[in-house]
Amino acid sequence: MCKYKITELKPQPEPASHSFSSQERTCKFDSGSEVVLVYCKVIRMAGTGVYADIIEGDVFKYYSDGEWKKSSSGKSVSIVNPTTRKTQFKVQACTQEEVNKAMETAKKVQKQWAKTPLWKRAELLHKAAAILKEHKAAIADCLVKEIAKPAKDSVTEVVRSGDLVSYCAEEGVRLLGEGKFLVSDSFPGNERTKYCLTSKIPLGVILAIPPFNYPVNLAVSKIGPALIAGNSLVLKPPTQGAVACLHMVHCFHMAGFPKGLISCITGKGSEIGDFLTMHPGVNCISFTGGDTGIAISKKAGMVPLQMELGGKDACIVLEDADLDLVASNVIKGGFSYSGQRCTAIKVILVMQSVADTLVEKVNAKVAKLTVGPPEDNSDITPVVSESSANFIEGLVKDAKEKGATFCQEYKREGNLIWPLLLDNVKPDMRIAWEEPFGPVLPVIRINSAEEGIHHCNASNFGLQGCVFTRDINKAMLISDAMESGTIQINSAPARGPDHFPFQGLKDSGIGSQGITNSINMMTKIKTTVINLPSPSYTMG
Ligand code: NAP
Repeated sequence: MCKYKITELKPQPEPASHSFSSQERTCKFDSGSEVVLVYCKVIRMAGTGVYADIIEGDVFKYYSDGEWKKSSSGKSVSIVNPTTRKTQFKVQACTQEEVNKAMETAKKVQKQWAKTPLWKRAELLHKAAAILKEHKAAIADCLVKEIAKPAKDSVTEVVRSGDLVSYCAEEGVRLLGEGKFLVSDSFPGNERTKYCLTSKIPLGVILAIPPFNYPVNLAVSKIGPALIAGNSLVLKPPTQGAVACLHMVHCFHMAGFPKGLISCITGKGSEIGDFLTMHPGVNCISFTGGDTGIAISKKAGMVPLQMELGGKDACIVLEDADLDLVASNVIKGGFSYSGQRCTAIKVILVMQSVADTLVEKVNAKVAKLTVGPPEDNSDITPVVSESSANFIEGLVKDAKEKGATFCQEYKREGNLIWPLLLDNVKPDMRIAWEEPFGPVLPVIRINSAEEGIHHCNASNFGLQGCVFTRDINKAMLISDAMESGTIQINSAPARGPDHFPFQGLKDSGIGSQGITNSINMMTKIKTTVINLPSPSYTMG
């Protein structure tokens, strides 16, 4: 048998501006010969093409006053690629003066923006959404390199973000185009002498702080509602994910929003975070992340807060559940993006009588998960940082010392941790309560649904949860009993679709997200009362 490999099809790389992803296909002929074809796809890289303005030298600029700028600090922050563990990108370490300037401009520009007709605001958002989708490749490439998100999922995140922005525009024109009309004589002691008109007005300057795991999607989930409602916005992107955010912001720049309406201030949260969140120019904070949000809430003062924080989403499995359905949802819910999702399943609470079968089914699927770099679309990719990997390892070691059953061997190379199911986890183990944010999933065996509910409700978190059963009556009772913002029946927890209300109870958050809720949250009610000299129904 003769075998040819046609490598000439590989174009010569242009190092600075493009990267290539290649795929091999084997064609077999009747004669028994084989030809291996190499398909190549050119990927536009960070800071090139339409994005060329946002970088100078090897440091990405920050965005303020409608311009891309270098910080006067002369300092930069390095972004380490979780896969190579080498510096991939650098961003400006912005100063307090630069924050002041961005806030000042945001305040001024917002006044004009609030007077811009709603349909025009919507038109610009639709334009930004289209540009975002058109230029998705470079943004997705940043996500691969900054946060090791599998390549396909990175593209999905950008496209989903474009759709979210468009939906905000559409929802906004309807929601904000309506108000209320009240008459005074419905309240005891009043005649119909007052007509009350209500409308929604913007809050002013929104400070938006998203986390590393969905830096683009969780940034636009704040930007879209803020802008359609007539606010201006200052974005502080997560360090890992900052370059993806800068590219995304450039799409809004290209759409032609007024100068200074959006700015993007880069720097470490630990260095400029307090200055931003306690800044007197801020009228609302929309934050998504971990416990940092709790600290921000305590310091923020008299501004509305939207806090979407951590979770320990429980998955309760009853005896009558479809165990194949549960197993596939456990894989999707527990291991997608290597468990680094706020709504990942973070503890399985399964009835003892079906636990062996479920664990066996899940193990069979875990064995099929691919582990490797995000560029290869591996199911499990390196976690975001060495400190995250060390934290996860600490939870695993603690479970080992306290006698958990390891369904797979614990394996780690750098930031890459192989998927691991821990069976027979007991409440004295840290993994029973803490959020690993990695591909490690504990199983707690229970003897009643009440025991599962009790464990779920004993957690400080209350983001989402799920219950698997064929009995809808039981599912409803359990859903009502679980103290979590959302309960999914017969499916893994999930944040989307993005227009669904999404909220955490207890330490998982304040307020509710989802497009409609975010628009409402970023506005306040204004009323105008028309006072009549005599009751309106006395004439005629
Ligand atoms: P994180 O460490 O809390 O960081 C979130 C954001 O806060 C980042 O932009 C970070 O910037 C910034 N920050 C850090 N210190 C700050 C300070 N003192 N003041 C203001 N901002 C500050 O969270 P993460 O590790 O990025 O994300 C993982 C966590 O987010 C998990 O707990 C996950 O459950 C949660 N999460 C929740 C949701 C939800 O909707 N409920 C969604 C996704 C993720 P730097 O990167 O520069 O430090």
